Amino acid sequence: MVQQTVYFIEGDGIGPEVWAAARPVLDAAVQRAYGKAKKLAWEEVLAGQKAFREVGEYLPQATMDVLAGARVAMKGPLQTPVGKGFRSLNVTMRQVFDLYACVRPIRYFQGIESPVKRPDLVDMVVFRENTEDVYAGIEYASGTPEAKRLIDFLRSELKAEVDAAAGIGIKPITQLGSKRLVDKAIRFALDNNRSSVTLVHKGNIMKYTEGAFMNWGYEVARERFADQTMTESEQESGDKPLVIKDRIADAMFQAVLQAPQDYDVIATTNLNGDYLSDALVAQVGGLGLAPGVNKSDSLALYEPTHGTAPTIAGQDKANPGSLILSGAMLLEDIGWTEAAENVRQAVDAAIAGKRVTGDLAGQITGSTAVGCKEFGEVILANI
Ligand code: NAD
Repeated sequence: MVQQTVYFIEGDGIGPEVWAAARPVLDAAVQRAYGKAKKLAWEEVLAGQKAFREVGEYLPQATMDVLAGARVAMKGPLQTPVGKGFRSLNVTMRQVFDLYACVRPIRYFQGIESPVKRPDLVDMVVFRENTEDVYAGIEYASGTPEAKRLIDFLRSELKAEVDAAAGIGIKPITQLGSKRLVDKAIRFALDNNRSSVTLVHKGNIMKYTEGAFMNWGYEVARERFADQTMTESEQESGDKPLVIKDRIADAMFQAVLQAPQDYDVIATTNLNGDYLSDALVAQVGGLGLAPGVNKSDSLALYEPTHGTAPTIAGQDKANPGSLILSGAMLLEDIGWTEAAENVRQAVDAAIAGKRVTGDLAGQITGSTAVGCKEFGEVILANI
């Protein structure tokens, strides 16, 4: 029997209820695919409110030690503890483990009413850089000594015209950060027979950050994947499996609405990726069906895109779909493709059956709203 250890963090808010619905589905999908030959071995590690209750800390060192040596793990959403001095647990984990690639597949689920005419044409995987950009946390409030010092420096040393009273933030984009992200996106595209990787940037305005990201992206393709990739302009004469193209971010928001079939894998900077993945998710059914993973070179931490949904927590209303589909991504990545396919088909079948959680019921005519637990059971019955 092959066992794959999966460390998991239950998470806050709706975390416990979506896990209770999700785990049986993932276990059943593996059993259906492989009988007794393969099994997921779940091992809980503590973080968030549960960790605080049990060991007095939100992110215990024991948890960090386990994850440091882990290859795959899953987490529910974690609430940022309220109070001065607490940093987001999610951001802390991303930084400590250098989870530089946030990967979000976005595809349509048949039967869901969408705000666009052809949501079925949406089938994209967004690779969002996760550690740099304006998210680096280098930001100072207007009028603070730090802002004043930085602005003084910019004005006196670099002759930059910055209002002395501005709030100010810094946008670092590195060659290393850009290249490793685009490298991951290209490898994924090649491994999964995808047709293009689009570098999304705002390089027409921010040449040395966003524009540099694009240039480094093309460089990665040329330097490391010359035999398998070609640019859009080389496409007419060339015959290689993967096209590398780029789009300005604002144009890309129009393009994914008007011609989603032209876009496949997307590699982009942190802020663009944040906006774009949410906009794409809205085209196909919302946060309840949005899985994701944050990856370093050694650890893949799978998690739903949504947060703790505090207003519905504990009420058996949450959609466990995002967590379940995050589990399907994990199964796919470890090569348990048949089990991953079982999960995805069961979610499709459950949606087609029209007994779904409230968030989806609002988007499916003639559907009946059921609780989190029952929706999990419906999916399980379709495995
Ligand atoms: P949220 O995703 O929790 O909620 C946004 C909206 O979507 C709410 O209306 C919520 O009810 C709904 N929603 C979310 N997940 C749902 C589900 N599975 N089924 C049905 N409806 C769902 O975002 P928020 O309100 O901005 O954040 C709440 C808390 O979650 C904050 O403390 C935030 O820091 C945290 N958060 C954590 C993560 C993470 O752990 N990765 C991500 C985002 C937010």
